[in-house]
Amino acid sequence: MQNGSKMIKNKILSILKQIPDPEIPAINIVELGVVRKIICNENITQVSITPTYIACPAIDLIGKLIKEKLVKFGYKNINIKMVYYPTWTTDWISEETKLKLKNYGISPPNLINSKNKKIICPKCNSNNTSLKSFFSSTPCKSLHKCNDCIEPFEYFKCI
Ligand SMILES: [Zn+2]
Repeated sequence: MQNGSKMIKNKILSILKQIPDPEIPAINIVELGVVRKIICNENITQVSITPTYIACPAIDLIGKLIKEKLVKFGYKNINIKMVYYPTWTTDWISEETKLKLKNYGISPPNLINSKNKKIICPKCNSNNTSLKSFFSSTPCKSLHKCNDCIEPFEYFKCI
């Protein structure tokens, strides 16, 4: 029974991995670390999610996308549970996912030069960068400019 429920959870997890993050389509919502817990039995399919920010506008959309996806796969009585504690942290993004972000052109959390504290350019790895705007296309990212390759880039702020 224990193994059976684990298999069901893994199946749901693999379905959720098919949902791209609405803000950063290069990574999925599981990689983003917002999926906290899955409960599945004959009565209910419950997915607990934690917003990246308390007021993150994308979280309602993510909940809706999860519901739609699970319905499509035949799951019933789906409940999306919002979990606000512990709060989401960029530590929940794996090293592998951080590399994905970098390849996508977004400087991942903590990609900072240890000496001058500058954020490293995801394109040419230069630390000769400057902050352009604390907020970018989404509140969780800031906008920077690389002074070496003259390219603007976004940084996923560390929280
Ligand atoms: Zn650069």
